[in-house]
Amino acid sequence: MISINEYATPESVEEAYNLLIKKRNNVVFGGGAFIRMGSKNISTAIDLSKANFNYIVEDENTINIGAMTTLGDIEHSPILKKYFNNVLAKSVREIVGIQLRNIVTVGGTVYSRYGFSDFITGLLALNTNVELYKQGNISLDKFLEEGSRERDILKSISIMKDNRKAAFSSMRNSKGDYAILNVAISNLNGKYRIAVGARPNRAVLANKSMEYLNNNGFSQKNAVEAAKIASEELTFGTNSRGSNIYRKQLCYVLVKNTLMEVQGYED
Ligand SMILES: Cc1cc2nc3c(=O)[nH]c(=O)nc-3n(C[C@H](O)[C@H](O)[C@H](O)COP(=O)(O)OP(=O)(O)OC[C@H]3O[C@@H](n4cnc5c(N)ncnc54)[C@H](O)[C@@H]3O)c2cc1C
Repeated sequence: MISINEYATPESVEEAYNLLIKKRNNVVFGGGAFIRMGSKNISTAIDLSKANFNYIVEDENTINIGAMTTLGDIEHSPILKKYFNNVLAKSVREIVGIQLRNIVTVGGTVYSRYGFSDFITGLLALNTNVELYKQGNISLDKFLEEGSRERDILKSISIMKDNRKAAFSSMRNSKGDYAILNVAISNLNGKYRIAVGARPNRAVLANKSMEYLNNNGFSQKNAVEAAKIASEELTFGTNSRGSNIYRKQLCYVLVKNTLMEVQGYED
């Protein structure tokens, strides 16, 4: 159970940040769904819902998504539907149910770098940047590797509109459960990005597999080889949902099938 002493609804990110750094146990709230699963004495809950962070907009080169946008908004966005074969909507569709997806936020998900996240894997296959209030703009790859150097607030993410084709797949023991493994792959002019998450650790790129495909091009035979390379280069862990050996095998199957799906969009 959590307990909250005070509740603040700052109207700007500056105000929110000043509250955040005032005390160690002041906490930023996105949808609050994950925070509520833990147990914590919170001095001030900083609810970002009045800080104007709920938006999905596009300009000439990028799609910008505010931190308080929900995964439900991602699922139904007419803007996102136009790009990347709607891969971001596909990445969140299996998460629990409509009610939860309408609460949980982009900011809470990406800032926390959850290993199980389906959405992060989808984003990693695209050219995505993360905008933090204090630390500024960094690539998602780097943010996933290094995290935040200091307490910060994620303001938004931006995705390059580069016309890549993309596909997402995951394997679950049952509907509504966390994924045992998830995979997102994109292809931009023969250059592939292969992201694998829920290993159960954080999503990473399968760099050797990408290099193989980028050098040798796509064919059914090369897709099989790329899937084999991905399953061998990445590390997998064991938890209650699946063993490392099972995940390695799943990685091979999901990468192969997802590559075939992406290639299908090119024809
Ligand atoms: C029961 C349940 C099942 C789930 N199943 C899945 C699943 O199968 N697949 C999947 O991908 N995800 C799953 N999730 C995770 C979900 O998709 C979200 O990623 C998660 O709930 C975080 O979003 P939130 O808005 O609830 O964050 P919150 O609970 O509000 O916050 C989470 C953390 O992020 C911090 N935070 C929030 N917003 C910001 C910000 N803008 N800047 C900096 N820090 C911030 C908070 O301080 C806190 O530490 C599940 C969640 C729940 C509760």
